Amino acid sequence: MTQIMETLLPDKVDTLFINCHVATMADNALSIIKNAALAITGKTISWIGKKKEVPDLLKTKGPKVIDCHNGWILPGFVECHTHLVWAGSRSNEFEMRLNGASYEEISKKGGGISSTVTATRNASKEELFILASKRVDALLKQGITSLEIKSGYGLNLETELKTLDVIQLLDKKFPLHIEATFLGAHALPFEFANNPDGYIDLVTQTMLPEVKAQGIATAVDAFCEPIAFTLTQTKKVFETAKDLGFNIKLHAEQLSNSNGAALASEFNALSCDHLEYLSLSGAKKMAQHNVAAVLLPGAFYFLKETKKPPVDTFRDLKIPMAVSTDLNPGSSPVHSMTLILNMACMLLGLTCEEALLGATINGARALGLELSKGSIEPGKDADLVVWDIDTPEDLCYLAGLTPIDVVMIKGRIHQTT
Ligand SMILES: [Zn+2]
Repeated sequence: MTQIMETLLPDKVDTLFINCHVATMADNALSIIKNAALAITGKTISWIGKKKEVPDLLKTKGPKVIDCHNGWILPGFVECHTHLVWAGSRSNEFEMRLNGASYEEISKKGGGISSTVTATRNASKEELFILASKRVDALLKQGITSLEIKSGYGLNLETELKTLDVIQLLDKKFPLHIEATFLGAHALPFEFANNPDGYIDLVTQTMLPEVKAQGIATAVDAFCEPIAFTLTQTKKVFETAKDLGFNIKLHAEQLSNSNGAALASEFNALSCDHLEYLSLSGAKKMAQHNVAAVLLPGAFYFLKETKKPPVDTFRDLKIPMAVSTDLNPGSSPVHSMTLILNMACMLLGLTCEEALLGATINGARALGLELSKGSIEPGKDADLVVWDIDTPEDLCYLAGLTPIDVVMIKGRIHQTT
């Protein structure tokens, strides 16, 4: 073993973590190395092994040595599904719901997604940037090192572009890796209330080509449900998106079975998300096309859902399960990945190992980043967190606690406590 590792020794080491245990999340398991050492060269993980096997050569190369005091190193969380660029507040609706108001009543009083759309349209780019920055900062403090953000509260060309511009600005400001997804087909804007096909034409003929021309998103998502868009309309969006070279994702089977997952699979989607009402045939299609299942227990919790996504089927068919906050103002205003890990276990029945895989390597799969992110292996990006915990399972068990010692993103340390 030592022999093999020495043959792979890096020429140079910038940072050496010692006195740590590592859950690498390689090979679809926690894949624990106790009493480990971990070497970083530039932006990349360059060596990992038992501390006693650390070759003297590594020590002589003058790296910065970080003593983890028996803490645990895990890959930084890959948060694969958020809607965190929005303006306005929906906390009043939360209180109305607790006082017994129905969604219809809230909607009639100007609430619901339309209130977020109006506030987001009225906000300046600077205002949106300030609001979204606070949310990204909160996620960074949760050990998230890669983050997907969707547009979808503009629902017109101007505001969708403004939202995607804000995401680009966030990418420049924060050290995290950010992926932008265009979600123009999120909901029907009021000006198209009687003309959903007309809105889909706007999305496919105007918005998508412009988003592509500006290079401000890598993926296209849609919401396929009776309350949003039909299978035919979703297919139209995907056909244009695929022609333009976007990756595909879908909010599918959250409130009913619309066969969206099967459609998205035909387009080789990266992921289908929610999936409470997924059918067995839809799951088989996902397995056949290697589509990840993104589970969103925050929305399940906030909407008081009772139908769970078919976790046993995902296990049987070896469909990778990702876990995400779904951070959004309506159905999941949850800013805590560790709380979501607990919810994934308690509400959806995942094991701690599955939940942690969901927030790391499977989150990376849902974004098409699994070759560079989501596990601790030589050659991958040095995105990792040192946690002051006794076991990896503590991250699921100690609900909402975030005992972070060090966050490293692409080889640079960004936060120590
Ligand atoms: Zn969502």
